[in-house]
Amino acid sequence: MTIYRSDGVKKAAQELASLIAGGKKCVAFTGAGISKESEIPTFRGKGGLWDKYDPAEYASIDSFNSKPDKVWHMLEELYDVCLDAMPNKAHKVMAKMEEDGQLVGIITQNIDGLHQRAGSKDVVEFHGGIETLSCRHCHLTFKRKDVLDREGGQFPMCDCGRLLKPDFVFFGEPIPQDAITHSYELINDSQIMICVGTSGVVVPAAQMPYTAKQSGLKVFEVNPESTPLTGDVADVSIMCGAVEFFTDLEEALEEA
Ligand code: NAD
Repeated sequence: MTIYRSDGVKKAAQELASLIAGGKKCVAFTGAGISKESEIPTFRGKGGLWDKYDPAEYASIDSFNSKPDKVWHMLEELYDVCLDAMPNKAHKVMAKMEEDGQLVGIITQNIDGLHQRAGSKDVVEFHGGIETLSCRHCHLTFKRKDVLDREGGQFPMCDCGRLLKPDFVFFGEPIPQDAITHSYELINDSQIMICVGTSGVVVPAAQMPYTAKQSGLKVFEVNPESTPLTGDVADVSIMCGAVEFFTDLEEALEEA
């Protein structure tokens, strides 16, 4: 296990680039940290939305069911924060890597849609996404843009008169089976997993690096802080921000 700190980031990027140049395929596993440099606050970092709204309280399905109006205030701000954000260099380099056949796909815990907006095609939204809302009674699905515009700031309702629920996974809800299945497919198609910006504590998503390791993948981790993956399941931990690492990786891939 190798841990690279600030003076070793370029070397780590070259190590990964030479594996990729040798034909190894990657799958990415991303968390809130990759979008921090796009101005979307992480759950566990300081600042922004989550100083105001405790995710344990506001992002639970019980709160949504029992106090939807209260949760809706948080959701409105969450939509604004995600829609105002732009993909950063890390999102963009991953999209380019997919286009170049180096990355088979991305398993993301994020709901912000930034990977897709950067151009990534095969993205498993393990916790769903912000683009649609559904009725749990009649199972109709609506595009966010249509219902939020139509409702003009009110809690969006289905045509049947019931509340629409955003299609992301609240704490206490199960992970969609197709997300789990496709995550395993991506892992099976890869030899390397690059974990970026995840604290590795939200289960079951946090099991993905362990599944990858057990399937024989080499696990790289990019995170300025150490996590339960560091020095354990991660073969290589690079302690820096996502934008710095992917800027160096892009350069190293060009030279490899
Ligand atoms: P987390 O908030 O638990 O951890 C974020 C991690 O990112 C931390 O380990 C932190 O050290 C790291 N980090 C901070 N700055 C970074 C940077 N510049 N580059 C790389 N890493 C950086 O996030 P999580 O592990 O994804 O789990 C929390 C849950 O929060 C997930 O389920 C996710 O769905 C949800 N969430 C999503 C968003 C989003 O969609 N952008 C934002 C907040 C929370």
